[in-house]
Amino acid sequence: MIKDDLKKILVSEKEIVERCEQLGKQLDKDIATMKSPVLFVGILKGSVPFMAELIKHIDSDIEMDFMAVSSYSGTESVGDIKIIKDLDHSIKGRDLVLVEDIVDTGTTIKELKKLLYNKGAHEIKVVTLLDKPSRRKVDIEADYTGFEVENEFVVGFGLDYNQRYRNLPYIGVLKEELY
Ligand code: 5GP
Repeated sequence: MIKDDLKKILVSEKEIVERCEQLGKQLDKDIATMKSPVLFVGILKGSVPFMAELIKHIDSDIEMDFMAVSSYSGTESVGDIKIIKDLDHSIKGRDLVLVEDIVDTGTTIKELKKLLYNKGAHEIKVVTLLDKPSRRKVDIEADYTGFEVENEFVVGFGLDYNQRYRNLPYIGVLKEELY
């Protein structure tokens, strides 16, 4: 079983659900001042479980779309990003909530925000399940953060290691011998 590959659990399923409830309430308040319906944009594939849990706790009228991106420059994420799967609909003049699994160096959300503003978005808020502030390379913060984590590679609740472990219902760290 995949849970046997974990060295430790950092954030439990219960903690994630409770935090999504709080984030949903907070978002609901702010969405009230944004252009309805706000479009929730999930970044594939890591954001899928978080998006699914988060939207259960939002009462406002929202829409949902997904996009997939990759960095141009190999292992360390720097510079531009490439769109692998674009949004299905135009975002001209729309207010968006960008839903991310984790903000690490910050490059992905910085470049994505730039790209989505270039495509005509009116206002963009970023919500991330996890944040690793110690790894930041560019000056950017999410507007809403689930949990801060230490500088450790984490898996579960959407986050993968070589495409595996996304289906764990919590966030954990793998045993060293598996990396
Ligand atoms: P950034 O552009 O902020 O450096 O990177 C964001 C992306 O890197 C995340 O969306 C995620 O795919 C990946 N990433 C960063 N840290 C981790 C981690 O600890 N675990 C996993 N599974 N992915 C990570």
